[in-house]
Amino acid sequence: MRNTKRNTRSVRLALLAFLSLPLMGVAQDFSAVEITTIAVRDNIYMLQGSGGNIGVSVGDDGVIIIDDQFGPLTQKIEAAIAELSDKPVTFVMNTHFHYDHTDGNTNFGRAGAYIVAQDNARKRMESTQVLTGSGRVQEAYEAVGLPKITFEDKMRFYFNDNAVDIVNTGDGHTDGDAQIFFRESNVIHTGDMFVRYGLPYIDRDNGGTADGMIDALFNISALINDDTIIIPGHGALSNRADLLEFRDMLVVIRGRLVRAKVQGLSVDEMLAAEPADGYAEANDSTNDWLRQAYGEYVD
Ligand SMILES: [Zn+2]
Repeated sequence: MRNTKRNTRSVRLALLAFLSLPLMGVAQDFSAVEITTIAVRDNIYMLQGSGGNIGVSVGDDGVIIIDDQFGPLTQKIEAAIAELSDKPVTFVMNTHFHYDHTDGNTNFGRAGAYIVAQDNARKRMESTQVLTGSGRVQEAYEAVGLPKITFEDKMRFYFNDNAVDIVNTGDGHTDGDAQIFFRESNVIHTGDMFVRYGLPYIDRDNGGTADGMIDALFNISALINDDTIIIPGHGALSNRADLLEFRDMLVVIRGRLVRAKVQGLSVDEMLAAEPADGYAEANDSTNDWLRQAYGEYVD
C-alpha cells in the first residue's frame, strides 16, 4: 500500500491518543483545542477538533450535526456552527456510543436538540460501558444526553433539501453503528466504520467484529458512488476508492488470519508470519490488534 509508513505512524499516534489517556488517568486539556471548519459540499460541512469528525448540515429547516465530540468543546463547536447558521441545532445524530463522538450530548440535549442513534447505541449510553483494550470506563449519560429517537435498520429525514438516511449496515466497530447519507448532496458520514488512521479500533467487548466491519464496508460501498464525499470517523475527507482500499486491507489481513488458523498456528506463530505485512509495521500495537482479531477465528 502506498502510504504504509505514514499510516503506521498515524496508527501509533491514534492508538496512543485513544489508549493512553484513560490508562494514565489524565484528563485531556481541551483549552488548546481549536475547531476547524471544512466545506464538504452544498450546505454540508465537517468540523474537526478533538475526537470524531463532526458533520454539519445547515439550511432553512435548521441544523443537523453528526456527533459532538467532548463536552468541554461544546461552546467552541456552537461558535463554529454559528458562523454557518443562525439557527439552533435541531438534531444530533450519533454514529455510535463512544465518548469521543457523544460526550457533548448532554450539553446539546439540554440546549433542546433531539438526539438520534441506533437502538443499541442508546442502550449502551443508558448504562456504564467498558471499552475493549483500553479498559476505559464510559459512564452512563443522564437522560437529557440520551437519544430520544432511535432506529433499528434505517430511517429517513427530509431536511435542508436533502433526503437524509441514517442507516445501520451491521455490527462492525460496535453493535450500534450508524452511517448518515445525504442523498441529494451525495455525502456520507461513516462514523468509525471507516477511519483514516490505519488498522481500525474494533470494540469487540461492545459487539464489534472485524468480519462485521468488512460486511458493513461492502454494504456502504454499495450505497455510494465514485462522486460521493466521505466524512470518515477520524481523518481527512475521503472518497469511495479510499474506502475500498481500507476494506481490502481488512479482507487481505482476514484471509491471512484464517489461513493461519487452518494451519493451526499458535498466536506467536501467527504473529511471526506478519499477517499485517504491507499495511502496518510489525510492532506492539499491530500485534495487539492481530491478537484480538485472531481471537475471532481461534478459540
Ligand atoms: Zn468509536
